[in-house]
Amino acid sequence: MANKAVFLDRDNTLIEDPGYINTPEAVKLVPGVELALKSLTQAGYKLVVITNQSGVARGIITEEQLETIHAELRRQLAEGGAHLDAIFYCPVHPEGTVVEYAKESDLRKPRPGMLLKAAAQMDIDLAQSWMVGDSPRDVEAGQRAGCRTIRVRVPGPGHGPTTEDTDEDTQADLTVRNLVEAAKAILRNDSDGAADLAFAGAGTSAQAQATAAGAAPVPPLPAQAPDVVPAEADLEAREIQREILACLRQMTTPEDESAEEFSVPKLLGSVTQMLTILLVVVVIYRLFQHDTGPETTIWGVVALIGQLMALTFTAMHKNR
Ligand SMILES: [Mg+2]
Repeated sequence: MANKAVFLDRDNTLIEDPGYINTPEAVKLVPGVELALKSLTQAGYKLVVITNQSGVARGIITEEQLETIHAELRRQLAEGGAHLDAIFYCPVHPEGTVVEYAKESDLRKPRPGMLLKAAAQMDIDLAQSWMVGDSPRDVEAGQRAGCRTIRVRVPGPGHGPTTEDTDEDTQADLTVRNLVEAAKAILRNDSDGAADLAFAGAGTSAQAQATAAGAAPVPPLPAQAPDVVPAEADLEAREIQREILACLRQMTTPEDESAEEFSVPKLLGSVTQMLTILLVVVVIYRLFQHDTGPETTIWGVVALIGQLMALTFTAMHKNR
């Protein structure tokens, strides 16, 4: 029987990406990665890193240095009880400065070459596999290989698509915030089947979206994997509630908040204001008639008092 796999982007998915990493000391795992990988291995997935490393073509790093970085990545994962089954990288780039690497390649994401190569070498059923990464090109490569896809959208500056990503509209089957959430979505989909892919996404993030095309039921989750999944269930539920509340607050615009509502002071203020305007009109009319007698003065004073009352009622309404 063919294997199923989770193909993993490296930078910003497995390890933090401060730019080009060219020393093992710079390798820093994204928190929770070991847990996510362990749970996927327990569920029977081969874990295969699929990474563009154009730093080699640009002369920033050699393939030998890249090997030491990957050895360090494996070492840190092993400390957490996790392991990778394979690492595929593409060192070339058409604009590279190192002549032998300055070329285009079908291996380079968003092309699916590395996934196809891994599938051939490791007997992987691509339709039963997932591609997880933070860039649109990861999603595109996964889709072109026939895998289901999960986009990890890391919040904050310096994350997300790079200048090499041109198609930000590439839609993954699911969008999550980190690899732990991605693993949970995959495991939940395993246990619930394709019909529940939408639920898996919704439970993962408010941003989650489920376009379950291509999703197919896969074998049930092994007994030990759920130990990992429910551990954060409560936290997750609370987080979702917070996100829903935040959305609801956003839906109540400032305009809505200041929406006029009925109140007695407001009614009195409106009536008083109308009477005041009427009195002012009468006073102006009398003045035009050259009637400057005491009666006109009285009406003028009453109008002034009416205006003050109208303002007072309006203030009372707003200060409720
Ligand atoms: Mg990346």
